[in-house]
Amino acid sequence: MKDTINQSRRSLLKLGSIAVVMMPVAAFAAKNEAMRKAMKYKETPEGEKKCSACLQFIPGKSAKDLGGCKIFAGDTEISPEGYCAAWAKKA
Ligand code: SF4
Repeated sequence: MKDTINQSRRSLLKLGSIAVVMMPVAAFAAKNEAMRKAMKYKETPEGEKKCSACLQFIPGKSAKDLGGCKIFAGDTEISPEGYCAAWAKKA
């Protein structure tokens, strides 16, 4: 019985360690790869269609800085010169 408890405790500690190691990775992950792939995001404009002219774009600190996108959750590396299939003209 005592061995089972110790084994469970060890397993729990292992899981905790893995979670602590994974935390910084999650905190610094800035690209929503799933959405990028699904929406065929690219770093270059499609004619006059580019992220900085899109309704969904969240500008960075300056006009040339990377920003975000309202539909790409957690992605902070959207180029103002980028483009994707969900582009919608900013009013
Ligand atoms: Fe750029 Fe697409 Fe987001 Fe518009 S929806 S800001 S085009 S990534």
